[in-house]
This record gives sequence, structure tokens and C-alpha cells, in this order.
Amino acid sequence: MTMVSKDISKAAKILVQEDLVAIPTETVYGLAGNIYSEKAIKAIFEMKQRPFFNPLIVHIKSIEQLDELAKDIPKKARLLADKFWPGPLTMVLKKQEAVPDLVTAGKDSVAIRIPNHATALALLEALDFPLAAPSANPFGAISPTNALHVAEYFSEKLQMVLDGGDCQNGIESTIIGFENEEPILYRLGSISVEDIEEVIGKIQIKNKKENAPDAPGMLSRHYAPATTTFLESDVAQFIRGFPDEKIGLLLFKERIENATVFHQEILSKKGDLKEATSHLYAAMHRLDKMDLDMIVAERFPDFELGKSINDRLERATKK
Ligand code: AMP
Ligand code: MG
Repeated sequence: MTMVSKDISKAAKILVQEDLVAIPTETVYGLAGNIYSEKAIKAIFEMKQRPFFNPLIVHIKSIEQLDELAKDIPKKARLLADKFWPGPLTMVLKKQEAVPDLVTAGKDSVAIRIPNHATALALLEALDFPLAAPSANPFGAISPTNALHVAEYFSEKLQMVLDGGDCQNGIESTIIGFENEEPILYRLGSISVEDIEEVIGKIQIKNKKENAPDAPGMLSRHYAPATTTFLESDVAQFIRGFPDEKIGLLLFKERIENATVFHQEILSKKGDLKEATSHLYAAMHRLDKMDLDMIVAERFPDFELGKSINDRLERATKK
């Protein structure tokens, strides 16, 4: 059975012993291990059933620690770090020799961020190594946004979940890389494209599989409930075609009156995209446990965090 606990020194002790601990961050819970331990990194891939060609994000405690892991850091990367760290922005940078190939899937680049979560930062502070931490879910499943989600996924295999409450942002970090010093967005996430462009100007977006085949968050099916899921602009109209099915709805701000459905999840009654984002995965987890015939999700407005939500919902609907 997985221990769910707030004990940071206990978590540190397990990590020093090269075992894994699931940790809270502001995005989703991560399955963390010492980047310099081959045993720990292999265990991460094994526990998640994640293919070895998918590189991991390295979590550090300070901007000073960046130079231990990355080199030839572009000016725009420094600007972004100053603006968004600690925070849900991951940057892919040229790696230092010391970063193990297992972590980067053999690439000469490494993905790095500083998490903005008091518990995660206190834990990193207690350790003298960075943590590799992909989302703490089996590969392809819905990411966990509370300690219970993690414990349910890995109850047999994982020693400990460090409990830091519900994740404030609720979806994965935004990932930015650089090609010839120019920023490229590889994954939509917790920080909107608009907010990033405010700092460094126009960026190119390459978050589709065709453009970046080796990025796991970009696989066309990912973040997916076990229940068949649809993404629709007109949900009321769509469900009329399925009067006999047991249906769960995932909606932005308003219930659909007189709908003959089993359950409706509303992500933000006041229509706030940030709030909706923070509730997205927990709502998907709940719906997925209701033994439904189908989940029907509403397509979000296609700007700011609405773009990131639509990205996840599109991947949730793919077969
Ligand atoms: P996860 O940790 O599950 O949120 O996924 C990690 C994300 O970081 C994936 O989308 C990876 O492709 C991306 N990533 C990590 N390292 C690299 C790298 N060196 N180059 C490109 N993408 C990377
Ligand atoms: Mg993941």
C-alpha cells in the first residue's frame, strides 16, 4: 500500500536511497527520482510503463542550479526563466555532459523547470540532486492532480506519495525549446501562448505529433479516460443522438437543462479559464469512475488556457 504523507524528510530519505516518491507540484503530481541514479530513473519508466524514448523533465530548486545541467542558454530562455520560474514553464536546453542519457532519452538536450509548489521546493532544498519527475500516472492515462489519484494508480508498487493538496494549475507545464536560438512551443500547458509572447515576442508552435514525434505529451492519444470520450461544440445537440446511453458531460460553465444524462461536471461556474483548467483532470477522473457509456466534453473557446484544455481534450478523444 502506498503511504500518503506530508513528511518531507521521509520523502527525502526514500529519494536518497534511490527509490521513488510521488511529489506534488502546481501542475500535476510527479513520479520523482534522483536524476543521477540509474536505478531510480529505470524505475520511473518501469512503473509508468513509459517507453524509454520519452525523455523526462528535470526539476531543480533554483536558477543557479541551471548551469549544472544546461549550457549555451539562449537569451530568451533567460528572460523566460526570470519571468516564469518557479512556475509551470519547462525549457528544453542543450545538456551538460553530467546529465544521464537515460533521463534525456539519448538526446543532447534536457527539459528543465523549477516547480512553484512550497512542498516540492522544500523537498528539492533538502536534496543535493535534481529530480526527474514525469506525471505520476501510467503512460497515456489521465494525469493525477491530488495524492489519492496517485495512490490509486500505483497502490501496489509505490512506497510514498508526498501529499501537497490539490494541484493549483491542474495541467502539465508549457514546454518551450529553441532551434537556432529561436523559441518553439512543443507542448501547450499551464502558461498560455499569449503570456509567453508578451515576454519574448511571437513564437512558433509545433505541438503536433508530425512535428515532434518523440515528445510523449504530443502523442495523439494521451491524457485519456478509459471511457469513450467525445469533444463537441454543441453538446446539447450531440447527445440527442444517444437517448439510451449512460452519459457524463464535461462542461465549461453551464449545465444543460433537461438533458437526460447521468451526470454533469461544470469546470467553472463563473466562466474562468484558469479555474476550469485547475478542475479539468479531477473531473475527468470522477467521470471515468461512473461506469458510463460515454463522456461528452464541450469544446472550449480557442484562446489562452482554452487552447491548452482543447489540446488535452482532443488527445483524450483519440482512439
Ligand atoms: P511529462 O513529464 O509526462 O509531462 O512529459 C515530459 C515532456 O517533456 C514530454 O512532452 C517530452 O517530450 C518533453 N521533453 C523532455 N525532454 C525533452 C527533450 N530533451 N527534447 C524535447 N522534449 C523533451
Ligand atoms: Mg505525462
